[in-house]
Amino acid sequence: MFERLKDFDPLLYKYLTQEYERQVSGIELIASENYVSERVLEALGSILTNKYSEGYPKARYYGGNQFIDRIEKLAIKRAKRLFNVKYVNVQPYSGSPANHAVYLALLNPGDTVMGMSLSSGGHLTHGYKVSFSGIYYRSVSYSVNDQGYIDYNQVAKLAKKYKPRLIWAGASAYPRVIDYKRFREIADSVGAYLAIDIAHIAGLIIAGLHPSPVDYADVVTTTTHKTLRGPRGAMIMTNNREIIKKINKAVFPGLQGGPHNHVTAAIAVALKEASLKGFKRYARQVVVNAQALAEHLKNEGLTLITDGTDNHLMLVDLTPLGISGKQAEELLEKVDISVNKNAIPNDARPPWDPSGIRIGTPAITTRGFKEAEVEKVANLIVRTLTSEGNSQALAQIKKEVNNLASKFPLFSEEWLE
Ligand SMILES: *Cc1c(COP(=O)(O)O)cnc(C)c1O
Repeated sequence: MFERLKDFDPLLYKYLTQEYERQVSGIELIASENYVSERVLEALGSILTNKYSEGYPKARYYGGNQFIDRIEKLAIKRAKRLFNVKYVNVQPYSGSPANHAVYLALLNPGDTVMGMSLSSGGHLTHGYKVSFSGIYYRSVSYSVNDQGYIDYNQVAKLAKKYKPRLIWAGASAYPRVIDYKRFREIADSVGAYLAIDIAHIAGLIIAGLHPSPVDYADVVTTTTHKTLRGPRGAMIMTNNREIIKKINKAVFPGLQGGPHNHVTAAIAVALKEASLKGFKRYARQVVVNAQALAEHLKNEGLTLITDGTDNHLMLVDLTPLGISGKQAEELLEKVDISVNKNAIPNDARPPWDPSGIRIGTPAITTRGFKEAEVEKVANLIVRTLTSEGNSQALAQIKKEVNNLASKFPLFSEEWLE
């Protein structure tokens, strides 16, 4: 691997190889991460990166786009079919720029938007104060209740009081099904647009494991690199012809220049993979693994927000263990298990060192981990969290983590059958 870099750029070669080894020998439980297939990597590392193609198929500002047009149209066609939606823009560079385009398309600076607070599991771009969305727009946030569920009555009350022009539904750290119908009713009651951000759960939606938002939302945004298992990128979807015109203008020329054609091609590959029977089995296994992991962690005495999960992730409240989220993240990193610290509802601790961690199963499932491996993972996590200061125990756990991980490829071909 990286043969051409080896002699030309030994330093970069070393770092790349080290990162490859880290990915192979570690257990990746960060809920937003995944591994792509070699087919996706092939498209991503292709000569398509050489081409400029500002504009859209058949309306470009550069010549020589006859094949790029076909590639972009192919990605759009596959996305439309998989998500059962009329219009798709596949050009956003990533999830945050996709959300930015929604603001630019539908709002004026200073308009009021409503989204889930970051501490409740929302995303920066849903109105957080340090993001463009909280800087250029007036932002109101709703939160989860003490049990960790979205408080729809609070959402309705806040909407009535502040009359937002746009409401966001969707989250980065919410383990339960979201009631899109209820959000639609609330948005309609105040004449707001409803934007649904399915960045995390897009793969579960196309596999039929989570309700589809397309009949409820004015506009749907998603990343392509989380449960969808494609390259780093994003898509914006809608059934509304007037809205897609505004979205297309907002993406280009509003926010972006030339689309990343190598990414568009890789998205097309990932969408083809996602249309296979094997992808449905993959998505189902992601949820089975998450629910099995949640059960084992509970049996070992850990506390989960909402007591479990409907999807690919869970939130652990570490308060009973007497360690913080940051400490847990660092301890687990010592044994090559990756998670991220995360706030819990009404967290008494600060955001940079909250009381919880977020754990997700999309990446380990791509490698081929099933229930038996998940039980081992739960055991390794609990042993790690209770071994602070015991360097011998931690060394032993790390060895077991590396042994388990190294038995699995980064991408199990069974999901492409
Ligand atoms: C990950 C995520 C995004 C942003 O994606 P980036 O590609 O990191 O910019 C947007 N919304 C939600 C809900 C996310 O989880």
